[in-house]
Amino acid sequence: MLRKLLLSSAIALALSACGERTANENAMPDSSATPAGAAQGDNALLAPSPLPFQAPPFDRIRDTDYQPAIEEGMRQHLAEIRAIADNPEPPSFANTIEAMERAGALLSRAMLVFEAMTSAHTNPTLQAAEEVLAPKLAEHSDAIHLDPALFARVKAVYDQRDSLGLDAEQKTLVEHRYDAFVRAGALLSDADKAELRKLNAEESSLTTAFGAKLLAATNAGAVLVTDKARLEGLDEGTLAAAAEAAKAAGKEGWLLELQNTTQQPVLGKLKDRALREEILAASMNRAARGDDNDTRATILRLAKLRARKAQLLGFDNYAAYAIADQMAGTPEAALKLLNDTVPAATARARAELARIQAVVERQGGGFSAGAADWDFYAEQVRQAEYDLDEAQVRPYFELDRVLRDGVFYAAQELYGITLKERTDLPVYHPDVRVFDVFDADGTQLAVFYLDPFKRPSKRGGAWMGNFVEQDGLAGTIPVIYNVENFTKPAPGQPALLSFDDVTTLFHEFGHALHGLFSRTTYPSLSGTNVPRDFVEFPSQFNEHWALYPQVFANYARHYQTGEPMPKELVEKIVRARTFNQGYATTEYLAASLLDLAWHLLPADARVEDVDAFEKQALARYKVDLAAVPPRYRSNYFAHVWGGGYAAGYYAYFGAEVLDHDAFKWFEENGGLTRENGKVFREKILSIGHSRDLASAYREFRGKDPSVEPLLEFRGLK
Ligand SMILES: [Zn+2]
Repeated sequence: MLRKLLLSSAIALALSACGERTANENAMPDSSATPAGAAQGDNALLAPSPLPFQAPPFDRIRDTDYQPAIEEGMRQHLAEIRAIADNPEPPSFANTIEAMERAGALLSRAMLVFEAMTSAHTNPTLQAAEEVLAPKLAEHSDAIHLDPALFARVKAVYDQRDSLGLDAEQKTLVEHRYDAFVRAGALLSDADKAELRKLNAEESSLTTAFGAKLLAATNAGAVLVTDKARLEGLDEGTLAAAAEAAKAAGKEGWLLELQNTTQQPVLGKLKDRALREEILAASMNRAARGDDNDTRATILRLAKLRARKAQLLGFDNYAAYAIADQMAGTPEAALKLLNDTVPAATARARAELARIQAVVERQGGGFSAGAADWDFYAEQVRQAEYDLDEAQVRPYFELDRVLRDGVFYAAQELYGITLKERTDLPVYHPDVRVFDVFDADGTQLAVFYLDPFKRPSKRGGAWMGNFVEQDGLAGTIPVIYNVENFTKPAPGQPALLSFDDVTTLFHEFGHALHGLFSRTTYPSLSGTNVPRDFVEFPSQFNEHWALYPQVFANYARHYQTGEPMPKELVEKIVRARTFNQGYATTEYLAASLLDLAWHLLPADARVEDVDAFEKQALARYKVDLAAVPPRYRSNYFAHVWGGGYAAGYYAYFGAEVLDHDAFKWFEENGGLTRENGKVFREKILSIGHSRDLASAYREFRGKDPSVEPLLEFRGLK
């Protein structure tokens, strides 16, 4: 989307962040593509939608409309940018900064719908368009940020920003726009610019190379088993998939393929200890075997290159560069967040290990339990102490009831909003539902689309996005969607959810609330266009209401009898939340700290051994528990070497600290009340990125966020 090109894309980040919660699956193409070559004259994306609130005209958009509309959008946008850069008038806020906000309307409109469809309802035509457009969009961004005439005007406004009579939001906008240019290298000498461009190009090809090597190494790391007896403990479905994988690889037997994390799902079930250890070793040593797929040389070069890039741009290290525009602001702040949690998390992990060891002893195991044994024995502890029978729980979580009497109910109690379903707007799939969102005084705030069920044209996970952004300049209200991947019931049957699904529904609606309460003037600062260590805060915060007694009692009723859920079952759900949190928190902290350690290296650092560096870093941060390896080791840490999370893996945790701390404030002030909701809406949910978020949070909370409520919730205290 457009915002991704100019600032950071909170929507894309929200997508990837939510993707972390759920396993990905491959989207399969469907056959709804329309024939290519339709005349551009009737391209429904070229003009603003005539529907209420500019809702996308899905009844008229053809798959072949997107690419030409986006290409035309880039052309128009560049022409508008050219006119701003070449304006003979002296630069002003209105003719430069605000004009840039107004530019690119077609590109933005087409991209928002395109990105929604390529994730939620794709097909070969859209996939082909994506491939063609990706490099063109990257070039488009460069053409804007490397335009010296445009930058000169932005800088002129920035330099006088204190004497122009700007309001707080306008000043923030000027600073964001200026920073985006500076972070792209606009202030550098020509020689340094040339070096930066070279480093960027090298970084881009190295991250691609990392991805390719890792994929090959992960495939090569799959463990082949030829003796079925060794697979005791695996269920029929897993066995069938392993047999299928072996066949596809042209091998006899069962092929256990590696997942992206250190721990592997099969380790929770396999009884054969030697096989468990073999699989864990395959996972941890992937891409580190000294062959063509070894990523370690690539990592060393990437770390060095990023440190040099940061140095060119005036930072001590890459972490300082990457975190400067995040809520944490500095690597020290991010480190403190993680370090403060290490003692409690590792203490809890050690206690969990002791219980696992006790099970091993009781069963006459005669060995010290390690990382390869953890899930197998933890699963036995879980079954004994927390066992939750899905089949028992689901009848109390009927989708429509959870939605209306849970998710919407909590929002009404807190914020006074109501949602009313409408059926007159076109949708892109018959499962999609549309709601008008009204404020307490009856004014319409937003339009909300819900796309609940899994299907082959949808990627895995759950996410939120905008079809139309809240834009005070253009006068548009937000048109928002939530996409989930719930199992679709047979015709005539109710959709019964797991508690995980219920939590996801609350989570995504939390993003929706962040979008629909937005009241900024400038679209690039609106709604969820916030840093990645803040964007998951409103969504994770909203999850808390799922188990809030007043809300839970309102929606968790048997779909046939209307009876409330029995107390014992509710207690099991509550208790299960703290299961294995010592392990989960420690493996996450270890990976986050490892990410920061790599990106805190100065440009002149000499690191020659990836494994030794990793070992020292984990020891330095006191997260070197043999039984709890990092969630990702350096050699297969795709978030930081292949994706956009370099020095940013901590962000999930940063947002989690905020959501628990904010919920604590609600608890301290009477919980689910309109008064509390009003404060939270005004001070957090409506401001987008129109001001500094750390100070906005401080104003809301009366103090800086504390990690204590999170530790309590995870049972780490
Ligand atoms: Zn999310």
